[in-house]
Amino acid sequence: MKLKSVSVFDLLEEEHICPHCDEKLTLCHAPPIHIGDGLGWGSEYLFICLNDECRLFVSGWKNIENNYGHVGSYRHMKLPDSDESYNMMVAGKQAFTGSIVDPEQIKNENSRYQKEREAVAKLDTCVEEMNLEPVLYLLFDDHVSVQLKKKASELLTVINDVSCVEPLRNHDFNDSHLEQDVNMAIKAILDSHFLKECPYCAELVKARAKICKHCQMELA
Ligand SMILES: [Zn+2]
Ligand SMILES: [Zn+2]
Repeated sequence: MKLKSVSVFDLLEEEHICPHCDEKLTLCHAPPIHIGDGLGWGSEYLFICLNDECRLFVSGWKNIENNYGHVGSYRHMKLPDSDESYNMMVAGKQAFTGSIVDPEQIKNENSRYQKEREAVAKLDTCVEEMNLEPVLYLLFDDHVSVQLKKKASELLTVINDVSCVEPLRNHDFNDSHLEQDVNMAIKAILDSHFLKECPYCAELVKARAKICKHCQMELA
């Protein structure tokens, strides 16, 4: 089985017809394991006939009962970018209906991923440009890996811009290590600007201040 990465966008454009029922095949996410031989399909995606009236599917129940003595049927399946097609054994009607490729979801995932790549590319120049935007983007996007978030958090103190404090304080970090790193970065940035956060109104005030100029509370 050849391994070739085909863009899912191209696959969404393709149309394949089931030879058993003449209905259009549905693009599905491939299951992780090839049920037949324990190998991967060699493709992330499969075209499958999900027509419940398909001759193959309708007659399959009896076939499998007679030949194997258990409940199941067949769905017609075609590998993308290949002429290989199979009659795939399925345990019931619901098999694969949960793994239908949703074009909207794919589009969203892809545009999210593109934004992440753009932010990562900007990390190289964000320090000299004093540009917090890619750093904050990576820290705030839930889909970005923790390693990448860590890398972004290390740049906070290098960029050393107090304007990062407010957005960072307004974000809930799910990862406690990352939250700790961010808190330490905020502390270092404030210290280097001789600032502190007022514990009452959260405004930034001079580290030397004994009274908050914003809320007039007495500071320790
Ligand atoms: Zn069919
Ligand atoms: Zn205050």
